[in-house]
Amino acid sequence: MNLVRVRFAPSPTGYLHVGGLRTALYNYLFARKNNGKFILRIEDTDRNRYVEGAVEKLISSLKWCGLEYDEGPDVEGQYGPYMQSERLALYKQHAQQLVDAGKAYYCFCTPERLEALREDQQRRKLPQAKYNKLCLSLSKKEIDEKLSSGIQHVIRLNVEPDQKIIFDDIIRGKIEFESNNVDDQVLIKGDGYPTYHLANVVDDHLMEISHVIRGEEWLSSTPKHVLLYNFFGWEKPHFAHLPLLLNPDRSKLSKRQGDVAVEDYRDKGYLKDALVNFVALLGWNAGDDQEFYYIDELIQKFSLEKVNKSGAVFDLEKLNWLNAEHLRKKSNDELLKMLRVEILNSQFAIHNYPDEYLLRVIEAMKERVSFVHEYLTKSPYFFERPREYELASSEKNWKSETPSQITKLRDRFNALQNPTKEDYENALKQIAAELNIGVGKLIHPLRLAVSGKGTGPGVYDILVILGKDEVTERIHSAVEKIR
Ligand code: GLU
Repeated sequence: MNLVRVRFAPSPTGYLHVGGLRTALYNYLFARKNNGKFILRIEDTDRNRYVEGAVEKLISSLKWCGLEYDEGPDVEGQYGPYMQSERLALYKQHAQQLVDAGKAYYCFCTPERLEALREDQQRRKLPQAKYNKLCLSLSKKEIDEKLSSGIQHVIRLNVEPDQKIIFDDIIRGKIEFESNNVDDQVLIKGDGYPTYHLANVVDDHLMEISHVIRGEEWLSSTPKHVLLYNFFGWEKPHFAHLPLLLNPDRSKLSKRQGDVAVEDYRDKGYLKDALVNFVALLGWNAGDDQEFYYIDELIQKFSLEKVNKSGAVFDLEKLNWLNAEHLRKKSNDELLKMLRVEILNSQFAIHNYPDEYLLRVIEAMKERVSFVHEYLTKSPYFFERPREYELASSEKNWKSETPSQITKLRDRFNALQNPTKEDYENALKQIAAELNIGVGKLIHPLRLAVSGKGTGPGVYDILVILGKDEVTERIHSAVEKIR
């Protein structure tokens, strides 16, 4: 087999779409699995859609996800440049080659004429608007005159009627199109820039791309590309069109139903490992029911043959679950680093907790959080005194007799020397016995007093983490504040 060379070829729109990430990831996995090369090519020939800073954003998102490419705008390789806007001469030259061979032709039709043609075709209820090859009948002399007079023109693909265009897709099998349904696609636009179709095919050929792996939305463009390969006399790459991404209601994944930019997920605290794992499963599985993966294992197991044809539903619940799973698998040291960043960016007054303190918080909360920021939002009481006390719990657990009972408990705690979990527990049991009440009558108010919340990790764990002085202080202020 020839060397595998694949590319991710985004048009920079200002952010990396999760669908784009899926395409990039599958290309990356396929390249790594087959010891091939993964190339980033920026398809920036649509000047109307130019967005300042878009390329940098795209590159930083890809890198954040760990998808390092072997060749690309900032890596350069022997097939560069990797920005299409820097390759314009190549496209012109190739378009000219097709014109000379009669496989493409100049078209001088004005936008008004094309609009009238479209309206007429619509009136006649033709299945799709197509250019009617009018300019193909111009003589060489007429063409030269028009060109030298400098009037605006485009170059169009000369699609032969009544042909079958057939190609194989690794995921979908044999695909057939009728050439009668293929428009004489513009290859070079009025502004001299190439269209996606020409630039894409020329570059895939010149960059020796072996496999074109891209979203299903490009399937209908592929017959045009196949014609171009044939006209140039080039060998076609292998094609693999990935299934659409769908909202849970099976409509096409859209911004309206949730975030679609990788940056949004990063900013919301999703781990890159979880996002990559999740995106890998959008249309692929190894044929078993494994769902948790690190990227190395994805590389080993990935194959295009196991990619599904049918649309893949973007299930946020699953992403959240994977995030929690990946977070739990992190070492305490990694969590400590992440938690420190979170604390630094927080509103809490104190930022410099000792490592041992934060490691205890991590131990207590690890199984209860799905995101790093939840260490702060679910257990703020490790970082500041309760500002308020959960009403549902105070109504249920804080009775008129509670203040005196819990004050007794507090005094007993106060008398303990360096109390352990067990010391706290024994002290509480003793007080309950002395007061002749169930332990619950003390445990629930105690939790509320020290944490402000009705649920959380084991209450004795909380006490040990906070330390005796803080615990007694908090009980004291709860007695004053809770009514
Ligand atoms: N520039 C196209 C895009 O934005 C590339 C499609 C392809 O991979 O051929 O997705």
